[in-house]
Amino acid sequence: MARTASKVEHVATSTHGEPARKPAPPRRVPPAPESYCRRALERGALDAVLIGPEGVAVAEWVRIKCQFGCGGYGRRRTCPPYSPTHEQTRRMLDEYVQLMLVHCDNGELVREIVTDLEREAFLDGHYKAFAFGCGPCFRCDDCAMEKGCNHPGWSRPAMEACGIDVFATARAAGLPIETVRDRDDEQNHYGLLLIG
Ligand code: SF4
Repeated sequence: MARTASKVEHVATSTHGEPARKPAPPRRVPPAPESYCRRALERGALDAVLIGPEGVAVAEWVRIKCQFGCGGYGRRRTCPPYSPTHEQTRRMLDEYVQLMLVHCDNGELVREIVTDLEREAFLDGHYKAFAFGCGPCFRCDDCAMEKGCNHPGWSRPAMEACGIDVFATARAAGLPIETVRDRDDEQNHYGLLLIG
């Protein structure tokens, strides 16, 4: 008790008797979210648009379609059942205000763009930056699974693996997406960067 009282005696006080606060240190201002749209387009994206969390649709059925119908289920640590549930994803999305939806005609390119820009945004000062890619991660022939990812800086779960309804999300943003019947059909792949 005596030590506590001694400490209190040394706390500086303002003229009103309140503890004086140290001035906040100057903070670096991160680039505006629009700059990541430009960077995505420079890397080959067809579209990159800013949306709010309310523009992302999540639903329970999405992961169930992963479970029954996708050969990647349970075989990649970025896929269900290891990836976040739609409830977790909804809660996470609502912790952000600035999101960027990235559209490419190539799934590999989407993954490269969003993971590169996640790193850039983080280093720019957007410390919450996080990317969602598309499709199962096939970077390694055999996924390390529970041992831990071989490329943690690169692998991110797909939007759909986390319960995001990619069709509804793309269409709400005015971007194209249709089910594909064969490889000659138009390809539309999407990734999402949560900026801050
Ligand atoms: S990078 Fe390799 S270890 Fe990591 S999720 Fe992808 S396949 Fe699995």
